[in-house]
Amino acid sequence: MTRPPDTPDSAQPFVRRDGALWVEGVSLDAVAARYGTPCYVYSRAALEARFRAFDAALAGRDHLVCYAMKANSTLAILDVLARLGAGFDIVSGGELARVLAAGGDAKRVVFSGVGKREEEMRQALAAGILCFNVESASELERLDRVAGEMRLRAPVSFRVNPDVDPKTHPYISTGLKENKFGIAYEDALALYRDAARRPNIAVVGIDCHIGSQITEVAPYLEAVDKVLSLVDRLAAEGMLLHHLDFGGGFGIRYRDENPPEIAAFLAGILARVGERPVKLMFEPGRWLVGNAGLLLTRVEYLKHGVERNFAIVDAAMNDLMRPALYDAWHEIVPVAVRAGGTRHYEIVGPVCESGDFLGRERELALAEGDLVAVMSAGAYGMSMSSNYNTRPRAAEVLVDGAAAHLVRERERVESLFALERRLPG
Ligand SMILES: *Cc1c(COP(=O)(O)O)cnc(C)c1O
Repeated sequence: MTRPPDTPDSAQPFVRRDGALWVEGVSLDAVAARYGTPCYVYSRAALEARFRAFDAALAGRDHLVCYAMKANSTLAILDVLARLGAGFDIVSGGELARVLAAGGDAKRVVFSGVGKREEEMRQALAAGILCFNVESASELERLDRVAGEMRLRAPVSFRVNPDVDPKTHPYISTGLKENKFGIAYEDALALYRDAARRPNIAVVGIDCHIGSQITEVAPYLEAVDKVLSLVDRLAAEGMLLHHLDFGGGFGIRYRDENPPEIAAFLAGILARVGERPVKLMFEPGRWLVGNAGLLLTRVEYLKHGVERNFAIVDAAMNDLMRPALYDAWHEIVPVAVRAGGTRHYEIVGPVCESGDFLGRERELALAEGDLVAVMSAGAYGMSMSSNYNTRPRAAEVLVDGAAAHLVRERERVESLFALERRLPG
C-alpha cells in the first residue's frame, strides 16, 4: 500500500484523494483487496485524537476517563486506549477478561450493569478493580457477602437514577424513573448509610449515566446538579466520596446533529463541581470511537424497480444493527466516485428480514461490484454484531499511518457451529 502525497490529518482521517476514499495513508480499495468485505476499518489517529481531546478537557483536575468498552470491545481498540492511560467501564466479566488481555489495568476499571453475577463479582474482586457501580440494594447485599467470603473489601459507588430526560432515542435513554437502571434518587441516601455500616464494603463514589447520543448540555447538567446535591448531603453526614463519575452519553455527528465541543460540554460540568475535592470520572463510549471507524462493503446486486431501487451489499443488519434497531442514520458514500446518473437506493443486506437495511433513499451513482463505506460505524457496530443467518462476522482492520493491521480475522463458518452437537445415535 502506497502512501499518498499529503500527510494524513488526524482530525480528518477519512479523506478523498483523486476521487478515492482513504483512511490515513491507506486506500479502502487496498483494504478490500487484501482483507475482503464486509470489513470494519478504524483509524488509530482518529481514536487517539478523540481520547486526547477528552482527556485534555479535564487537565488540571484529578480525573480518569473510563472508556465504555461495550461501544467497541475489540482488543486492538482497547490496546490503543490503554496505552494512552484510559480506564475502562465494563459491564461483564467477559469485558474484564478483554481489558486484561489487551494490556489494560484492572485498577482503572469500573464495573457497571444491573445484573452482576456472583462469579463476575469474584473475578473483579480478585483482579482488584477500581470500583463496582452498584445498581440495587440486592446487589449491595450480594457484593458484601461475596467480598466477605474472599476476605476483601469491595470498593463501591452507587449509580443513582436522577430522573432526567436526555431527549434521545427511548431505547438509549437510561436515566428516567421508568428505566431499569440505577437506584431511585429518593432511596440513595438510605442505601449510602446502609453501605457505610457494612464491613466488606468501602464506599468510594457516586455515579450516574442518563443515556446515549446526548447532544444537549442542559439535561446532562440537570443530572450533575442532582448528583452534586446528594454528594453534599452525604458530606454533611461525614461520608466523603473519593470520586464522582458522570457516565458517558456524549453525542456525535452522524448526519446533522450539532453536539457541543467536548471541551465546552465538560467545562459546564467542571464549573458545577467547582472546588469540591474529588476525582472526576467519565465513561464515554460512542464519543471516542464512533467517528473513528467505518464499515466497508461491496455492492453485490442492483435491482431497479418501479417503486424502489435496491443496492444489495455484502454487509447486513447482523454486521451493523443500528439502522434496524434504532432507525439510526449512517452516511453512506462510494469509495470511488462514479461519474453519471444517480438514483435513489435502498441500501440493504442479504439477511432475510425487511428490517435489514443500512440506509434508505440514498442518492448515489452505483454499479455492481462497487465498494461503499458506511461512515461513523466505530461505535455499537462490531460489538453488537451477530451471526444471524449463519453469517461469519466481519474482519476488522486498524489503520495506523501507512500500515493496515488485521486486528480481527473474518470468522470462519465452521467456528460458528463448532460448539454444537448433533443428537446421539
Ligand atoms: C453504555 C454506557 C456508557 C457509554 O455510553 P456512550 O453513549 O457510548 O458514551 C457509559 N456508562 C454506562 C453505565 C453505560 O451503560
